[in-house]
Amino acid sequence: MTEPSRQTVGQDAPVFRFAPSPNGRLHLGHALSALLNADMAEKAGGRLLLRIEDIDLTRCTPELEQAVFDDLAWLGIPFEKPVRRQSEHFLLYREALDRLQAMGIVYPAFLTRGEVKARVSEYEREGGIWPRDPDGAPLYPTEERMLSEAERTARLATAERYAWRLDIDKALNFVGKRLTWQETGDGARGEIEADPAAWGDVVLWRSDAPSSYHLAVTVDDAAQGVSHVVRGLDLFHATSVHRLLQVLLGVPAPIYHHHRLILGPDGRKLSKSLGDTALAALRAEGRTPSDIRAMVGV
Ligand code: GLU
Repeated sequence: MTEPSRQTVGQDAPVFRFAPSPNGRLHLGHALSALLNADMAEKAGGRLLLRIEDIDLTRCTPELEQAVFDDLAWLGIPFEKPVRRQSEHFLLYREALDRLQAMGIVYPAFLTRGEVKARVSEYEREGGIWPRDPDGAPLYPTEERMLSEAERTARLATAERYAWRLDIDKALNFVGKRLTWQETGDGARGEIEADPAAWGDVVLWRSDAPSSYHLAVTVDDAAQGVSHVVRGLDLFHATSVHRLLQVLLGVPAPIYHHHRLILGPDGRKLSKSLGDTALAALRAEGRTPSDIRAMVGV
């Protein structure tokens, strides 16, 4: 990757970032995101950062990270160095969690995914409608917030696994105002009303996985001074959680641009298991970076 030109990019220039997770090969959807970030940064006279989102230490590997660098270099996208790796900043995410804990708005949650599922199935068998988040996952049962201090302490001492979750009602009370963000993307635009309550009590930290995506992305965008977040429309609704965390942690909000998704032949979002849209496979077939631009329409 080439170094950025420091003469033309000032300290207060807009800051863009591409933030892939190296848990599979990059595909056409990533190419669209990376190219849009590069084009928008160039147009705005801004900086372009690369962040490796490798909090999932079991699925992210050094080989896949190297493959990200190779694919982006092939596409001709010049990111600044050094590249930020989330696995090198767990302490920072922990500090953010500590601050939220000190505010009294997080709690240890002990139900496993399977236990939540069983509870939801039972409820729905009896005709109830369990609330689901924008991705379709059932919300965490709110009665789990009610454990007594003594019970929490006892369970923390013995639980094999647990997660720290945000008590969404306490968090919203704490903020006490309507939350919005500025959106310039391919879906709804303008001032968007955030709806973090739709996600219920989100996980911020798991005892067996340091930090959650939501916490790490919020902390990192602030730590890197990101002013423009350009990413897929699949993360549009997650922005509600990020806005809430930004206000709770007292950090500024970037401007968001959620771009259209590249869909597979089945009309579904591309996934990393769809080998034929992997940039490496297309490269091996003899496609060029300008073919990729044409394929994703930028
Ligand atoms: N790491 C996320 C992904 O690969 C993107 C996160 C973001 O851009 O906020 O889907």
